[in-house]
Order: sequence, then structure tokens, then C-alpha cells
Amino acid sequence: METERVQSLVVGGGPAGLMAAGELARAGQSVVLTEAKPTVARKFLMAGKSGLNLTKDEPGDVFRRAFHGSCAGLVEHAVADFGPDEVAHWTNTLGQEVFTGSSGRVFPVSMKGSPLLRAWLSDLDAVAFRTRWRWAGFDEDALIFETPSGKRRVVAERVVLALGGASWPRLGSDAAWVPWLAARGVEIAPFAPANVGLSVPWSGHMEKHFGKPVKAARLMAGETRVRGEFVVSSRGLEGSAIYAVSRAVREGAPLTLDLCPDWDLDEVTRRLTRPRGKSTVANHLRKVLNLDPVRIALIMEWARPLPDDLAPVIKSLPVRHKGPRPMSEAISSAGGITAAALTGFRLRAVPHVFVAGEMLDWEAPTGGYLITACLATGRAAAIQAMRDRAG
Ligand SMILES: Cc1cc2nc3c(=O)[nH]c(=O)nc-3n(C[C@H](O)[C@H](O)[C@H](O)COP(=O)(O)OP(=O)(O)OC[C@H]3O[C@@H](n4cnc5c(N)ncnc54)[C@H](O)[C@@H]3O)c2cc1C
Repeated sequence: METERVQSLVVGGGPAGLMAAGELARAGQSVVLTEAKPTVARKFLMAGKSGLNLTKDEPGDVFRRAFHGSCAGLVEHAVADFGPDEVAHWTNTLGQEVFTGSSGRVFPVSMKGSPLLRAWLSDLDAVAFRTRWRWAGFDEDALIFETPSGKRRVVAERVVLALGGASWPRLGSDAAWVPWLAARGVEIAPFAPANVGLSVPWSGHMEKHFGKPVKAARLMAGETRVRGEFVVSSRGLEGSAIYAVSRAVREGAPLTLDLCPDWDLDEVTRRLTRPRGKSTVANHLRKVLNLDPVRIALIMEWARPLPDDLAPVIKSLPVRHKGPRPMSEAISSAGGITAAALTGFRLRAVPHVFVAGEMLDWEAPTGGYLITACLATGRAAAIQAMRDRAG
């Protein structure tokens, strides 16, 4: 097999890889970016389907506390240099205005990923894109690719791997690389679903509530307290408030719901002791606590046989679930290359290789933290690759 020699090679065309490629090209490198799929950034475009939440408008120290996992410190450094302000500025320089929505979430005005991606790719005109080029492991210092014209062998002065995590594998990030790096002695924490719904084996009574939102509940799991919205679906519970507790639940904490977060236990007790007359329990709950049908259904589903005093149950309803939904449905993944395997973003075991994005062992809630961290680590890995492999 012939060997091709390139200056800088980026593998993976998600936000981390595209950012790394742009940074290397700006530094005067000749850059080749390979992508296994026929087109780049499929997960980024999928993210845009429900509103592309690019970042979060909040103070830097608050933003940086959102990251967990062995690489959290590395991500915090990267977002200190390229955080919410820089992401908004970068988006503007690509001709896309942003706006800040409720709770500080920042979106492009178009809400979608495609206009931003189009502008971004035209800004990357110096980068040579090779799609349908699937990295298939190492051969000594070379990287082997499966391509439409057979196997190819590439040697690069510096390589940035940005292969993504393990969620939604049909969009490209299938974690097939794990054994190739593990064989080189790179420590990789097992992937687990993050920002994911919960499986619930519902009784038939719940069917008429599928698709209904539960607004303004408080969710409690371990140390995590979240006030927000979630949805009852045929598979279980989904939505931003459930995703926000998914790390604590994955780590084994029981999940409880406060269905009347505006009133304390005494107030709920006081209201429940109002005379019920001939009302059913459900009607009484609706009248004295303004509970909507879906909340009442959740109480009936999980608190039967109903105790005489319902107030503690309403303030702390145990959620009977069967654990997280599978990786194929998760917004992101926890796990990946650990901090112990790295010097900055460089692989200790393969010194000309740098890594970025969700393939590193960090996680964060939804809210724009994920894309910001991928952009920031892609940029930081490229800057380090230029510095460490100068000449
Ligand atoms: C439904 C959904 C909605 C989301 N919404 C948001 C949101 O609003 N805000 C937010 O911050 N985050 C969101 N995310 C998460 C965000 O999209 C990811 O965190 C981000 O795309 C990860 O970037 P990455 O570059 O690390 O990896 P990826 O985007 O996964 O890109 C990795 C690339 O590497 C390629 N690749 C993998 N293996 C190989 C190989 N062997 N050879 C060559 N190429 C390979 C893949 O095909 C892929 O193109 C969402 C995710 C999903 C699934």
C-alpha cells in the first residue's frame, strides 16, 4: 500500500474536528480532514432540528462548573479561552446572528444548524475534505483508512482525532476507535448514555397522557435539584429536566418529583385538609392544588395504594423507572479518553496524535455546554498540536 504524507490530518468532521481544521489552516498548515460519512457534521445538523443551542449566556465561572469527568479540568481551560462570548462572536463573524432565549440559552436566529454550517464550510475552503474516508486503525505511525477506492495509508506530522462520543451512532460517532487506541495503551473510561430519558414500564392507564408535558416540577436525585419541564412518552420520561438529573440517576441516586414546587409541605397539607365532600381524590387534588390530569395520573401510577396523607407523596413522589434509555437515544455520552492518557490534548502513548471533543472523558448537561466544549477543545487541541509539533 502506498503511503501518502500530509502536514496536518484531522479525523472526524463534527464541530470539534471542523474547529481544529480551521485553526490548523489559519496557522498556515496544509490540512486534510477525513470523515467516515458521505457528509460532515451530521450530529450538529440533527442538534439544529430542535433548535441549535450553541452556548449559554452566563458568567464564565458558572459555565465552567457544568463539566464533570476526568477531563473536566481540560475542558474548563479550553472554554476559559473560547467560551460563551467567543462562540457568539465566532457565529457572528460567519454572518449568523445569535439571540439569547429563556434561561440564557443562545441560539442562531435561524435556530437551525444548516445556515451556520454552510457559512463555516465556505470559511474552511483551504481544508481538503475527504468524505467516506473511514479511519480503521494504526499501522505503526500511519493511519489506515477505508475509502471508496480501497485502503489508504496516511502519515501526518500531526493528527487531531475528533471522532465524537458514542450516542446516536447512526450519525457517525460509533466509538469503533476504542479498541485501536486501547491497544496502544490509551486509557478509555467506558461510555455511558448522558442527557438521556428514563425507561418506565407504564400501566395502561398512562396511555392517554403520552406526549403530555409536566411543567414546572422539581426533580431531585442525589445532590441534583432541577426545576423544569419534562414529557411523558410511551417509552418513559424525556426532556430537559430529566436529562439534567440523568447523571445522578446513572450513578444510582433515587429520583423523586415535587409536583407542587411553589408550595411547601405545610401549605400542601393545609390545602389537602380542605373538606373534600363527595369529590373523588383526583378531583380534590385538581381543586385544592391545581394539579393537571398528567400530574394526578403520575400520583396514581406511582403512589398506589394511596396513603391517608398525600402531602409527602406530592412533595416527593418516587419515580419507578427501569434506568436510562439506550445510548442510541442519548443526546451525549459520558466516558471516553481519560485525563491520565493525556498531556493537555496530546496522547501520551502516541505523541503525534491529539484528541478533542466528545471522545474525551467529560460530560455536561444540555444548554449549549456540549457544542461550546467541542468547539473549544477542537481549537485548543489544534493550537497545542502546532506548538508541540513545531517545525
Ligand atoms: C439530537 C441531538 C441534539 C443535540 N442538541 C445539542 C444542542 O442543542 N446543543 C449542544 O451543545 N449540543 C447538542 N447535542 C450534542 C452535540 O451535537 C455533540 O456534543 C457534538 O456534536 C459532539 O461533537 P464532536 O465533534 O465531538 O463529535 P461528532 O459531532 O459526533 O462528530 C464526530 C465525527 O467523526 C466522524 N467519525 C467517527 N468515527 C470515524 C472514523 N472511524 N473515521 C472517520 N470519521 C469518523 C463521525 O462520522 C462524525 O462526523 C445534541 C446531540 C444530539 C444527538
